[in-house]
Amino acid sequence: MATFIEDACMAKRDNEPTEFPQSRTYPRSTLGGFRDLGVTPLAVQLGLTEEQTNGHWCSRCQGIWFGYTLEAQCPVCGNRNG
Ligand SMILES: [Zn+2]
Repeated sequence: MATFIEDACMAKRDNEPTEFPQSRTYPRSTLGGFRDLGVTPLAVQLGLTEEQTNGHWCSRCQGIWFGYTLEAQCPVCGNRNG
């Protein structure tokens, strides 16, 4: 019976809006060893979540930065050539 009660609680929890308490800190381990160059000031200004930002590769920094889809300039070194 205990198992049944736990399953019922799990099912109810699944119907609630999913929250991502860890969403503000990107899991750096998923970047596969690349440098995390952070998020652009524009993306922060727009209040974009990580799901709304795009990862951009910077060959000069050898890392990935996250920003608005149309942004092209690395926030660390200013490189616009990817
Ligand atoms: Zn760069």
